[in-house]
Amino acid sequence: MALTIQNPFVFSRKLSASRGLLHYSPRMVSSSSSSTFYIRCYSAVSQRPLRYAVLGAGFAGLSVAWHLLQQSSEESNFCIDIYDEVGIGGGASGMSGGLLHPYSPKVKLLWRGEECWKESLKLLNIAEDARSSKSLDMGKPKTGLKEGDFIVRRSGIVRPALSVKNMDVMNDNAQNCIASCRIESIHKDAAQKLVPDLCVPLDLAFHMPEAVNVNPQNYLEALYLACKTFVKSKCSSGISCKELNLHKESVHNLLELAGMLLNHLSFLGSQQ
Ligand SMILES: Cc1cc2nc3c(=O)[nH]c(=O)nc-3n(C[C@H](O)[C@H](O)[C@H](O)COP(=O)(O)OP(=O)(O)OC[C@H]3O[C@@H](n4cnc5c(N)ncnc54)[C@H](O)[C@@H]3O)c2cc1C
Repeated sequence: MALTIQNPFVFSRKLSASRGLLHYSPRMVSSSSSSTFYIRCYSAVSQRPLRYAVLGAGFAGLSVAWHLLQQSSEESNFCIDIYDEVGIGGGASGMSGGLLHPYSPKVKLLWRGEECWKESLKLLNIAEDARSSKSLDMGKPKTGLKEGDFIVRRSGIVRPALSVKNMDVMNDNAQNCIASCRIESIHKDAAQKLVPDLCVPLDLAFHMPEAVNVNPQNYLEALYLACKTFVKSKCSSGISCKELNLHKESVHNLLELAGMLLNHLSFLGSQQ
C-alpha cells in the first residue's frame, strides 16, 4: 500500500496505464461529465483555478487527491477531478487484504518502507478522524459499530516461516526491522496464542506487533470524506475557490485528454 510519485517524464511514457495524475487546463473540462460526489464553491477571487485530473479512486488516486489539497496554497483556486470507472475502491484497493507493514513477504524492509509506513499511518488517522467527525455531526454514538465497520485494526500481524530455505533469510531480515514496526521471532505456542490454530510448520513465526489490518473500502470512503471536508472548510473561509469532483466514468484514451493540456502533464502510480 505504498505510494510512489514517479518522475513525470518516465511515467508519461506509460500512457496506457489505467491510473495517473493529469494536470490540465480549466478550459478543457467537459461540462457533460457526471459527478456522483460534487462540491463547488465560489469566491470573489477571479484568478483562474489550477485543475488536476486524478485517474483512479484507489489507494494511489485518493492519497494523491488528499496531498494535492494539502499542498495547495490557502489562496489558490483549485479543482481536482477524480475519474474512476467503477467508483471508490473499484480496483485492486477495494479487494485487497489490507495487511499493512513496511516489509516484503520475507520480512525485508521495502525501499523507502519506513517513510511509506509512516505516511500510511498518517492517512489512516486522517480517514478515522474524518469519519468520527461526521458521526459526531450526525449525532451518532462512537460505540455500537458493527463488525465490518472498522477502518483499521491495530492488533499486529503474524507471519509463519513456511520453508527451511527461507528461514535464515527471514531471520537476517528481521534483524533490520524499524523501531516503529518491530519484528519479533516467536515459537509456535506464542504464535498460536495470538492466532489460534495458525499453522506454524517450522516452529518459527515473525510477529509484527505494530502492523495493522485495514478495511480498504471503509478507509477509502473515509479518506474521500476527509478530502470533501477539507474542500468545504477552505471554501467556507471565502479566501479561495476549491472544488473536488468524483466522476464515475471510464477514461478510454489518455492521449485525448493529454492533447488538451495547457501547461504540463504528470502521472502517478502506486507500488506495493
Ligand atoms: C486480492 C488482493 C489482495 C491484496 N492484498 C494486499 C495487502 O494485504 N496489502 C497490500 O499492501 N497490498 C495488497 N494488495 C495490493 C494492493 O491492493 C495494490 O497494490 C493497490 O490496491 C494498488 O492501488 P492503486 O490505487 O494503484 O490501484 P487500484 O486500486 O487498482 O486503482 C485503480 C483504479 O482505477 C480505475 N480504473 C482503471 N482503469 C480505468 C479507466 N480506464 N478509466 C477510469 N478508471 C479506471 C479502477 O476502477 C480502480 O479503482 C492486494 C491486491 C489484491 C488484488
